[in-house]
Amino acid sequence: MRKTLIVGAGGVGNVVAHKCAQDSETFGEIWLASRTKSRADAIAADVKTATGVELKTVELNADDVEATVALLRKIEPELMLNIALPYQDLPLMEACLQAGVHYLDTANYEPPETAKFEYSWQWAYQDRFKEAGLTAILGSGFDPGTTNVFCAWALKHLFDEITTVDIIDANAGDHGLPFATNFNPEINLREITQNGRYWEQGEWKETKPLEIGHDYPFPDSEVGTRRIYLLYHEELESLAKNLPGLQRIRFWMTFSQNYITHLKVLENVGLTSIDPVDYEGKPIIPIQFLKKLLPDPASLGPLTKGKTCIGCLITGTLKETGETGTRFIYNVCDHQECYAEVKSQAISYTAGAPAMIGGRQVLNGHWREPGVWNLEELDPDPFMEDLNRWGLPWQVIEAEPLELS
Ligand code: NDP
Repeated sequence: MRKTLIVGAGGVGNVVAHKCAQDSETFGEIWLASRTKSRADAIAADVKTATGVELKTVELNADDVEATVALLRKIEPELMLNIALPYQDLPLMEACLQAGVHYLDTANYEPPETAKFEYSWQWAYQDRFKEAGLTAILGSGFDPGTTNVFCAWALKHLFDEITTVDIIDANAGDHGLPFATNFNPEINLREITQNGRYWEQGEWKETKPLEIGHDYPFPDSEVGTRRIYLLYHEELESLAKNLPGLQRIRFWMTFSQNYITHLKVLENVGLTSIDPVDYEGKPIIPIQFLKKLLPDPASLGPLTKGKTCIGCLITGTLKETGETGTRFIYNVCDHQECYAEVKSQAISYTAGAPAMIGGRQVLNGHWREPGVWNLEELDPDPFMEDLNRWGLPWQVIEAEPLELS
């Protein structure tokens, strides 16, 4: 029987485990490995109740390549879904190569000691995966992931050439708590407190963190008009490289004034820093201490109400008319519906369901080309069909380009 190994039993890992179990015909026997086995066991119990499928669980320190190779050789999975943290990407890719297992993740590598993420470290594995006849899929979440596929699908079906892309991510959900992050606080805050960056006419342009904001009218009436802020996000790097003719690409995310005020205070007092501080003779990393104080994102599931809306606003030469036009391709997801299905809020759901969908493409043979791939380099059609089938339906509408006032 085919086997699949999921690594990471956090908020997103919970969704991936549920979604894979919903399609156990494709994923076969499902294993869930994580640093803290009790968290994997708790997920397995929920998955059993929800789907009747029994997951096997095991403790694993994914930073330890030797231990991971030994586990892979024992289980012999066809595919590993890496849903741990970005710090584990390289050791897990290395282990997959040594044990002959296909690989997929949802976020690009980030060294623990530097708040910096980029694809170069993982792209460097291209030749080794090719030579081994193995496939590595990078960034199969929503953003990155589904947003990359939206661009590839738009280029295949709607546009002869794409000139600008604005990726826009709105969370219009409310958990009622004063301050919490929707996914791993350390990863989330490291991303938001960096300088903003976007790509235009072949050059990266830098802004101060959250310096550029804009009120954007989302197509879903419950999401409404919200303030979006320009951020650097990892899919900009691969899309700027892989979309021919592109002139500009930016990424935007909504934040409430309350969120920004909390973030400013935490930054001002030094709690978002990754530099160790000596506390009574012990080195403490402030952002890791802050993570301990903040609510576990997995606990937000039952509390969060409202919707997310994430999409790509794309301008280019339309195939249909040969004229310039703009389209918004997007998904709207309801926090409470997600919780009813998989006991997670929509942020974890929108990241986890595409990991399962990407995994389906590898296992079903649609995405089996040996090498290391970002999602826009692969055929978007089967992934787009699966989004509709597996819980993330999408729409395309005519839209106005995003002009800053
Ligand atoms: P969590 O912190 O909730 O979960 C991470 C899990 O990985 C935990 O179970 C943790 O174990 C486990 N883990 C951490 N280190 C190791 C290790 N060395 N060995 C084994 N297991 C380990 O994070 P999330 O679920 O919120 O995020 C998971 C991933 O999804 C991240 O990479 C994040 O960047 C990505 N993501 C991607 C999105 C997208 O759209 N592309 C959106 C949101 C998230 P323990 O329980 O012991 O802490």
